[in-house]
Amino acid sequence: MICLTLRTDEAFLLDSTRLGEADLILTLFAREAGTVRGVARSAKNSRKRFGGALEPMSRVRLNWTERSGRDLQRIDSLDLLQSYAEMQSDPNLQAACAVLAEITRAMAGENDPDERFFRLLGAVLDGMQDGLGPFAAVRYFEFWALRVHGMLPDLTRCSGCHESLAGREVRLTSPDLGMRCPGCPPEAGMEVRVPEADSLSFLSRVADSPPSALADMETACRPGRTLDWFLRRGLEASAERGFRSYRHLSTVAAHGADRPPKRDSNTR
Ligand SMILES: [Zn+2]
Repeated sequence: MICLTLRTDEAFLLDSTRLGEADLILTLFAREAGTVRGVARSAKNSRKRFGGALEPMSRVRLNWTERSGRDLQRIDSLDLLQSYAEMQSDPNLQAACAVLAEITRAMAGENDPDERFFRLLGAVLDGMQDGLGPFAAVRYFEFWALRVHGMLPDLTRCSGCHESLAGREVRLTSPDLGMRCPGCPPEAGMEVRVPEADSLSFLSRVADSPPSALADMETACRPGRTLDWFLRRGLEASAERGFRSYRHLSTVAAHGADRPPKRDSNTR
């Protein structure tokens, strides 16, 4: 016998996939329930139950029927709390949101409350709404996604000798997310780089700053820079998978910050 429970929670809409003519499969990240995946019947046609809330990353009041033992729940309705649709008319921010959504899908679990991660996602989306650029937003999210899940080593100490790095020259190592003093050579399998001043400035500020305070760090956070190599690779190694949406972010970046990307059937 299937046990049905009516539930409600606050959530971000991470993904929607068409199912037949009018139904959608939705993936949401809820404050108390963690990941919720379910079928929204007639979602494409029902403005009353889903109106305006189906845009990517929408913050919603989620009402669903939990079906014990089933992979897919029944999504009854979404009420829009906060839309992030307008800022995503900028293709750079849209690409950044896709990265946040993919990382969240990978790191959040079902029936696994993850309050700090939930607040992180909201803070970064609000920051972007207030002018934080796409690349600083993604790097900030990577750093804190690693930290709140206990996957980031102590960056104030050398990962080799464990001495304090305060006031010393440092090297970054990848993909282990390590920071080393000049006296400790990298171990087998590690790549090592001397970070530029702006990369180091980001790493020294990110732990104590809200997202919007790093709006001036956009250049250091661009794809291909040292922070991309350090944080993105470290995150992908920790998650033991690559994230497809990064490719789109790089494509958008390559076309300049102000122009929309050329349509290209090979990207996404
Ligand atoms: Zn050392």
